[in-house]
Amino acid sequence: TEPLLSIRNLKTHFHTDEGTVRAVDGVSLDVDRGETVCVVGESGSGKTVTAESITRLIPEPPGEIVDGTVRFDGEDVTAMSEKQLEALRGGRIGHIFQNPQGALNPVYTVGWQIREAIQLHDKKAKDKEARERAIDLLDRVGIPDATSRIDDYPHEFSGGMKQRIVIAMALASNPDLLIADEPTTALDVTIQMQILRLLNQVQEEFNTGIVMITHDLGVVAEVADRVVVMYAGKVMEEGDVYEIFENPSHPYTRALLECLPGRGEKMSAIGGSLPSTTSPPDGCRFHPRCPYAVGDCEIGEQPPMYAVDDGDHAVSCVHFEPGADPSVVLGEDGS
Ligand code: SF4
Repeated sequence: TEPLLSIRNLKTHFHTDEGTVRAVDGVSLDVDRGETVCVVGESGSGKTVTAESITRLIPEPPGEIVDGTVRFDGEDVTAMSEKQLEALRGGRIGHIFQNPQGALNPVYTVGWQIREAIQLHDKKAKDKEARERAIDLLDRVGIPDATSRIDDYPHEFSGGMKQRIVIAMALASNPDLLIADEPTTALDVTIQMQILRLLNQVQEEFNTGIVMITHDLGVVAEVADRVVVMYAGKVMEEGDVYEIFENPSHPYTRALLECLPGRGEKMSAIGGSLPSTTSPPDGCRFHPRCPYAVGDCEIGEQPPMYAVDDGDHAVSCVHFEPGADPSVVLGEDGS
């Protein structure tokens, strides 16, 4: 059967005075119901633009989806009208952003805002019923004493509680897919864990698919079923979360994991910096920073995704081409 979300060869570019920024440049990924796919990369890797392209939240212009398809539950999102897209956003697809502040309106009580979200997608729900459901949602996301707090304003809640409220709003329409962009980055570590556990619970309860955008491998370890590693607008490696941590194969993924002394470490310890996405390097986009680069890496296109072992683990690296010798990257013992 078709995955819940299927992105194929997505290219989202931005037309600027300095040239065309190829922010997302041929990305493919799938998300099934009940599955969490983490898209990992440094800032500038294109992970957020990938997430925003799913429901076409990118400003068009200057942004433009120049190629590829995004299919959600069998429908082509790239061909939808603005009206259809609006119904999809906050409907069958919910969004959770990094900053809960921006998602909540300071002027209205949280109860009013969740009720609005409920009634937007269930026109038949009367005020009283919507209010009951709002209380139930607040309760489910772990707001203590929801019945008495429903008429409080956003500023009366802590940052972690606000993010719970945003999750409650995102759940108001019973979405099939949640897109979460760095949802815990602004929160302290303990609250972060609580929110991630909450997302796991929500997923189990509602069989929701989740696309989680993060730079934090600690978050990946906590929530991911599968991982997609992005670099300069391209997918470098993808696979099951255990495979990615136990058997990282792309030189970039290996570098990311090597500079991870503890949880929540940022990916800044790799030498060099992200290449320009206005005039990206030929060949493999990682070649200027790659210790294993050979002549072939500097010419032509990004290498295709080559399978590593069996299953769906794949890497975009010449050393994994059939017949090539991956031990150049992996070491003689294959690790
Ligand atoms: Fe490094 Fe070449 Fe592999 Fe790219 S294709 S990761 S440059 S070895």
